[in-house]
Amino acid sequence: MSDTETAPRRTRPDRLREALRQHFGHDAFREGQREVIEQVLEGRDAVAVMPTGAGKSLTYQLPAMLLPGLTVVVSPLIALMKDQTDKLESAGVDAHAINSSLTGAQRREAERALREGESRLLYVTPERFRDRDFFDALLDREVSLFVVDEAHCVSQWGHDFRPDYMTLGPIAERLGRPPVLALTATAAPDVRRDIVSQLHLDQPFVHVADLIRTNLFLEVRRTVNEERKDEELRTILRERDGTGIVYCATVKEAERLYELLEPEWPVGLYHGRRTARQREEAQEAFMDGQLRAMIATNAFGLGIDKPDIRFIVHYQFPGSPEAYYQEAGRAGRDGEPALCSILYRVEDRNVQSYFLGGKYPSLEEAAKVAKTFESFDAGTGHPLAGIAEAADVPRRKTRIVLTLLKRAGAVREQRGGRWERLTSDLADADLAGALADYEERRAHDREKLEVMEAYCRTAQCRTRVLLRYFEVDPGERYRCGHCDNDRNGS
Ligand code: ADP
Ligand code: MG
Repeated sequence: MSDTETAPRRTRPDRLREALRQHFGHDAFREGQREVIEQVLEGRDAVAVMPTGAGKSLTYQLPAMLLPGLTVVVSPLIALMKDQTDKLESAGVDAHAINSSLTGAQRREAERALREGESRLLYVTPERFRDRDFFDALLDREVSLFVVDEAHCVSQWGHDFRPDYMTLGPIAERLGRPPVLALTATAAPDVRRDIVSQLHLDQPFVHVADLIRTNLFLEVRRTVNEERKDEELRTILRERDGTGIVYCATVKEAERLYELLEPEWPVGLYHGRRTARQREEAQEAFMDGQLRAMIATNAFGLGIDKPDIRFIVHYQFPGSPEAYYQEAGRAGRDGEPALCSILYRVEDRNVQSYFLGGKYPSLEEAAKVAKTFESFDAGTGHPLAGIAEAADVPRRKTRIVLTLLKRAGAVREQRGGRWERLTSDLADADLAGALADYEERRAHDREKLEVMEAYCRTAQCRTRVLLRYFEVDPGERYRCGHCDNDRNGS
C-alpha cells in the first residue's frame, strides 16, 4: 500500500484521538468506538450494539464536541442522565438534562441554555417531546445528531418496551432529520430490525461488537449422561488455568455442582436464591481471583467486569444465541486466549422447553396476581417477592403481570423495585390482548432455542452459525479458525 493511500486514513483517526484525549482524557478508543464515530460524523445513520460498559456514550459525546449544532440524546432513565451530565459538566462540556426531576428554576435554566444555544448536549426522556414549549425551543436549534440510547426500548420483542420510543422516528423528522444514532446492548436481530424500522433509519451503518473474537475458542462437547458431563467439566478445570464461570440452567444444578467440585477446587456459588451477602462474598472472591470457578445461574454476570476470565462453561446450553453471546462473551476481555465450552446432551432441550412454558403468565395467573394485589394497601410500595408469594405465582410472571398493569395505568413501579397500587379495580384491567401476544413470543423463543441447538449440533464452523443468526453476512466460504469444528478440519 502506498503512502498516498494511507495518509488520509491516518490524519482522521489522529484528529479524533486528539479530541478523545483532550475532552475525555482517554488514550485510545475501545473496540468499535472509532468506526461508529466516523460514520456519525459523516452524517450516516448508525446502530451500535455493544455490551454494557463497553463505552457507547462516547460514540455520541465525542461527535457532540465536533459537530456544529446540538446533540439530542434520548435516554429512558433519569438516573443515567444525571450521572452523564455530572461527568460531562466536570469535564467542561455544556451538557444539560431536561426531565421531570428538575425544580422549576433548574428547568428554566436548562431551557434558557437550550434557547440561547449554550447547550451542546441535551439529555431528555422520550416523554419530554410531548411538552409543546420544550419542543418549540428545540425546533429553533440546529440539531446535528439525534441519539437514541437503550434503543431496544422501541422493540416489542425487547424486555423494556417503552411506548414513547415509537414516536422518535417522526420526531427526528420534525427536527430536520439529523443523522440518528441508536445504541443498545441487545444483539437480537429481531430487536435490531425493530430499531431500524421504528426509528426510520436509512441504510444505517451497523456495528455489532464482539461477535468475532479470535481469542475465544468455541467448542461443544457431546456427552451422553450427567456423569460424562461432570467428567468433562473436571477435565476442563484440570487443564485450564485461571478463573472461569460454569453456567447452570437451574439453581438445583448449580448447588449440586458446587458440592461436587468444592472439595477439589476453590469454587464459588452464585444464584438468585442465595442471600445478598452470600452473593456479594462470592462475587468479591471471584473478582479478586481467589476462585477457580464460579458455579452460577445466569443471575451472575451483569456488571461483572473482570477482564481475565479464562473459560466459560455452559453445563447446559442457554435458551438463545443472544444469551450465549452475552454469557460466553464475558471470557477473555483482555484479549488473551479463553475457552467457551458447552457440555451438550440431547435431552437438555427439555430443560429449556420447560423454561419456555414457565416464562409468560397465563390469563389465569394474571387474574390471580391482579386479584391478590387488590387486597394490598394502595398508595404505598410493595416488594415484588411479597406480591408473588401471596398470589402463588412465580416472581418472573408476577413481574410481567405488574408491568402490564402499569401500562394500563393501574399500578406504578417505584424506585427500588417496589410496586404501588393506583386503582382499586385491578381485575378489570383488560390484559387478554397483551397475554395473547405472549403466545407469539413463545413461538419466537422456540425458534431461538432451535438455533442454539443447531449451534450445538452443527459440524460447520460455529462462528458462522452465530454470524448467520445475527445477520452479519460472513460470506460463502467463511471459517473462523477458532472453533472445534474448524480446528478438526472437518
Ligand atoms: P455503556 O453505555 O456502553 O454501558 P459507558 O458509555 O457508560 O458504557 O462507558 C463505560 C465506561 O467506560 C465509562 O466510565 C467511560 O468513561 C469508559 N470509557 C469509554 N470509552 C473509553 C475509552 N476509549 N477509554 C477508556 N475508558 C473509556
Ligand atoms: Mg449506556
